[in-house]
Amino acid sequence: MINKVDVAIIGAGTAGLAALRDVRRETDDFVMINKPPYGTTCARVGCMPSKTLIAAANAFHARTLLDTFGIRGADHLKADIPAIMERVRELRDHFVDGVLDATDDLDARNIAGHARLDGPNRVTVDGHTIEARQIILAPGSSPIVPKPWQAFSDHILTTDTLFEERDLPARIGVIGLGAIGVEMAQALARLGLEVHGFDGADHMAGISDEKVAESLRASLSQEFAVHLGVEVDLAAADDGVQIKWGDDSVVVDKVLVAVGRRQNVQDLGLETLGVPLDDKGLPEVDPQTMRIGQTPVLLAGDANAIRPILHESSDEGHIAGLNAVTDKPVRLDRRTPMTVTFCEPQVASVGKRASELDFDECLVGEIDFSTQGRARVMQENYGLMRIYASRDGGRLLGAEMAAPAAEHMAQLLALAIHKDHTVHDLLGMPFYHPTLEEGLRSALRQIARELPPCSISDLAGCGSMEVEALD
Ligand SMILES: Cc1cc2nc3c(=O)[nH]c(=O)nc-3n(C[C@H](O)[C@H](O)[C@H](O)COP(=O)(O)OP(=O)(O)OC[C@H]3O[C@@H](n4cnc5c(N)ncnc54)[C@H](O)[C@@H]3O)c2cc1C
Repeated sequence: MINKVDVAIIGAGTAGLAALRDVRRETDDFVMINKPPYGTTCARVGCMPSKTLIAAANAFHARTLLDTFGIRGADHLKADIPAIMERVRELRDHFVDGVLDATDDLDARNIAGHARLDGPNRVTVDGHTIEARQIILAPGSSPIVPKPWQAFSDHILTTDTLFEERDLPARIGVIGLGAIGVEMAQALARLGLEVHGFDGADHMAGISDEKVAESLRASLSQEFAVHLGVEVDLAAADDGVQIKWGDDSVVVDKVLVAVGRRQNVQDLGLETLGVPLDDKGLPEVDPQTMRIGQTPVLLAGDANAIRPILHESSDEGHIAGLNAVTDKPVRLDRRTPMTVTFCEPQVASVGKRASELDFDECLVGEIDFSTQGRARVMQENYGLMRIYASRDGGRLLGAEMAAPAAEHMAQLLALAIHKDHTVHDLLGMPFYHPTLEEGLRSALRQIARELPPCSISDLAGCGSMEVEALD
């Protein structure tokens, strides 16, 4: 077995594999240690199976709109849940196979086991110690199930177990309506389950803009029971498990616990580094180098809780990999923040969130998609987008939205914010007709009207056409 290496990478998830690519480019003197299963959270139990289930749910839900289009007979359609779950697993296996290729040729440099730090330059795995000049930690995160609820384990699901279910029960509670909870609650409701969703906060899917949050609540409440601002508890019931909140309760067959994810650092030996740890057991990490203080240890991906989403985990693995194989620190700027929740309306945030802004200093443009032309044509006329720009010059700062096709409009805004564009810059771009992006343009024009005019021509995007169908 290998006793000494230049670089040890712990965790073969998205961050660890991104680090591996950069480390391999410079040296063969490395080991990768991963606690099985292999295949990454994203491909196995995260992004990909969840989106596969959502796609099936949305396809089935589309039948509810057919009558409006003048298409009859949809009442006869049925969701074959076992077949849907089988397809989720088939595609999941395909995505996992693709990921496994990345470690297939590592041979002895790929070690399956639980790694633990023993000081800044030593890792132990199954009683064997490996010395390393640099260590990249990328152990990811796991779903939290509060201890008192573990007694109901027969009725508890998490996203680690949901996609393994052969069939789904008639009634389900979803506790935690962050991005993952909202996505799954709506998908399960669309597949015909009776869904009760709960969250202690009064917002869902991480939205901080009050008006967008309210719009999202109004949309989702039409599809499943939404209980916000409630503390819930579980109790035994004859025919399932009881969810209790205030003076209310409901009995369900299963509960999907989506109350958050815990960084996998409990048994990682971080305390042997001699640096301060916070109340979650996490050290301070430089987000531009991923290094922990002055140590030879880097911490990347979900495990550092900085930006626990896929493209950021991948970036962090890349930054850690570069820094592990160079003597001079490589400091890289992080991308414009962006999140997408794949419910309908899709929820997205780009750049600064409402909660991070001083509204005395910024202008807000808003578009309600319930009356937007293209949204109405497609029968997707719901949701609200709010765009924030600086009062001084109209520089785009951020946006929050619960809107149709928000994933695409968020990408466009992320590009503009990243390039430091102003509202006028963006209005100078072409907007095809009829598109949902014309709604985005209306919000931009609302802001532009409060800015000093930039030119005499609408081509430069200063004014509105004042025609509903075009605006
Ligand atoms: C249901 C769900 C849906 C999601 N949807 C999206 C989405 O749509 N878009 C998006 O951007 N993000 C999404 N995410 C988040 C995304 O999946 C994560 O940000 C990403 O997978 C994190 O990658 P990672 O490398 O940090 O961790 P992981 O992929 O979890 O990898 C960590 C690896 O380290 C191993 N490990 C842990 N401890 C040790 C140890 N001590 N020794 C050795 N190995 C260890 C683990 O076994 C694992 O293989 C979703 C997550 C979930 C759960």
